[in-house]
Amino acid sequence: MLQIIQKSIAFLVPPVCPVCGENLIDPSRELVCRDCFQKVSLSFTDSGRVRVSGRIPVYFPLVYNGPVKHMMHLFKFENFESMGKFFARAMMSKLEEEGIDFDIVTYVPSHPARIREKGSYPTKFLAMEISRMSGRPVKGLLRATRYKKSQISARDRRENIRGFFEAIDEIEVEGTVLLVDDVITTGSTMAEAGDVLYRAGHKKIVGITAAGKV
Ligand SMILES: [Zn+2]
Repeated sequence: MLQIIQKSIAFLVPPVCPVCGENLIDPSRELVCRDCFQKVSLSFTDSGRVRVSGRIPVYFPLVYNGPVKHMMHLFKFENFESMGKFFARAMMSKLEEEGIDFDIVTYVPSHPARIREKGSYPTKFLAMEISRMSGRPVKGLLRATRYKKSQISARDRRENIRGFFEAIDEIEVEGTVLLVDDVITTGSTMAEAGDVLYRAGHKKIVGITAAGKV
């Protein structure tokens, strides 16, 4: 009976591309449809592309536009873990391509209220996946002290985000800390998180995000 119900549901709702709604040709293997995938493959960044936010270099494998933006929304706000896994793999490939070595993985923290409200923790998810692939341990080094950011111009964002994060404690980390975030836009979040880590004693920090505004 259950099988019949499942089949009829499958019949009523054919598996579609979560980005554009087109039917998928091979739903067991496709994350998005072929059209969207083609667009995503055009969004990969060239090697050597890095942004400097505050005192840390930030690498990102994808340009934040088109289907990438849509996929990020599905991952962050609709809990599509398959998208997160795709992003984490792209981030790992980028780190390998750039020859970035690191000893510990950490992430830009979410406020506990955000985690409760959305039922997910995207940056931690990405960090855990990168940890699994790289064999480096993941450790939460930062906590978020406030939840809502006010909507203000990019120019003022750096001021606005000051004091948003604090170091959990003075954990001695030998070597390089990889700081993970989902997207880099103005760079103010990475700059602030990097600063807090630096002041807590972590002198070698490299940032990685799934996507970035260019
Ligand atoms: Zn599509």
